[in-house]
Amino acid sequence: MIHIAIIGSGPAGYYTAEAAQKAFGETARIDIIDRLPTPFGLIRSGVAPDHQSLKAVARRYEKTALTEEVRFVGNVPIGDDGVTIAELQDIYDAVVLATGAPHDRKLGIPGDDLPGAFGSAAFVGWYNGHPDFVAAQPPLDHSTAVVIGNGNVAIDCARILAKTSDELASSDIAAHAAEALGTSRITHIHIVGRRGPHQVSFTPKELGEMGRLERAAAVADPAAFPPETEDEALDPGQRKVVGFLREFAGNAADKPVTVSFDFFTRPVAIEGDLAVEGIEVERTRLTDDGRAEGTGEMRTIPCGLVISAIGYRTSPIAGVPYDEGRGRFVNEEGRIAPGLYCVGWARRGPTGTIGTNKPDGYAIAELLQSDLSDTGKPGRAGLDALIEERGLQAVRFTDWQKIDAAEVARARVGAPREKFVHVEEMIAAATTP
Ligand code: NAP
Repeated sequence: MIHIAIIGSGPAGYYTAEAAQKAFGETARIDIIDRLPTPFGLIRSGVAPDHQSLKAVARRYEKTALTEEVRFVGNVPIGDDGVTIAELQDIYDAVVLATGAPHDRKLGIPGDDLPGAFGSAAFVGWYNGHPDFVAAQPPLDHSTAVVIGNGNVAIDCARILAKTSDELASSDIAAHAAEALGTSRITHIHIVGRRGPHQVSFTPKELGEMGRLERAAAVADPAAFPPETEDEALDPGQRKVVGFLREFAGNAADKPVTVSFDFFTRPVAIEGDLAVEGIEVERTRLTDDGRAEGTGEMRTIPCGLVISAIGYRTSPIAGVPYDEGRGRFVNEEGRIAPGLYCVGWARRGPTGTIGTNKPDGYAIAELLQSDLSDTGKPGRAGLDALIEERGLQAVRFTDWQKIDAAEVARARVGAPREKFVHVEEMIAAATTP
């Protein structure tokens, strides 16, 4: 029997399990280990709560989870407070790190640690009810919020700030966030990009949605755009994106909330004594090789909340080689060391959609097939013994199904679920007879 441990139960973890299960069939046992009692990683705590159709992919992962060969082992952290990678390597023939990239890339400017300055991981985790960020309390009592970055995460953050309670009613936004946003006084949201409309990383569907919000008008400065003829050189997707931005440039700020796309604007310093009071930004221009360079022209945007959505980093794990510059594990096509692999964002960095993890998972399963042979390691029995020795309370997939049912049962009218946001509540739901 081949024994495989996958660390992390998000898309990369489940696609790897699916692929390995297909590749090895009954000759392998696969354990998916997660530090939380709830599976699916980014599907539950990253994908926006008002994008329920994207979350439906969890049903596919559930099919894998319910096979004989695959087991979910939740509520088991990696590290000194749980089990270590070295211990897992003694027990399993392969350990695959599918730990994603849960930490924010830091802005690295003065004031970026002031209260009111958030990374998108914290802000997204807060509205999605991730246990680590429940207490975040982003200040919503100022008229202006600034979101830094021109990618889809920036769009998610701005859209959640801009939507009405009615627009969020059919989402699974955490109750504490729905309540706080319901009394938000934010009327101006700036989405700040250091380069121009042709250089954004938005995708058409996500950006287009920003033009159809009930109480928010999306606007942009027409002067930031190159001549329209230059759009022809763009690929079709990017041309569509720029088309939406041009529409926004023709919009009037005629709704209660304004979402303004501020291009060629780079953050320089976050200002404030005890908390964020504003952000100093510099006007930029493009260099010949497409980078943003400062022009020396400064202005301050008064605001009470700054959210930087400029990318993520994988959490380092003791003993696993880590590429500080790229914020991911050092690896060759997914191989880190004999018997140790990585997949998804932990392998390639934080780019691509959920679906990008599918070919990634299948590629790792191919490597496993060519690398692994039965060496008589204990696999599941070894992990169960370690869990018992450490006094950990592992959560199985059937326990998660109880948590799931309890969340669905306590949903607000019209909402798919009301998430438990504390681990203790999840464990209580899992252990209720
Ligand atoms: P992203 O698409 O890589 O965008 C990051 C943005 O941050 C870029 O505009 C980048 O500008 C900017 N940036 C980086 N460093 C900066 C700095 N120091 N100062 C100012 N701006 C800076 O990353 P993301 O938005 O975090 O998204 C991650 C991945 O998840 C993407 O592949 C995204 O499409 C995906 N995602 C998809 C969905 C969806 O499909 N609904 C939702 C959310 C996320 P430059 O281009 O100038 O570097």
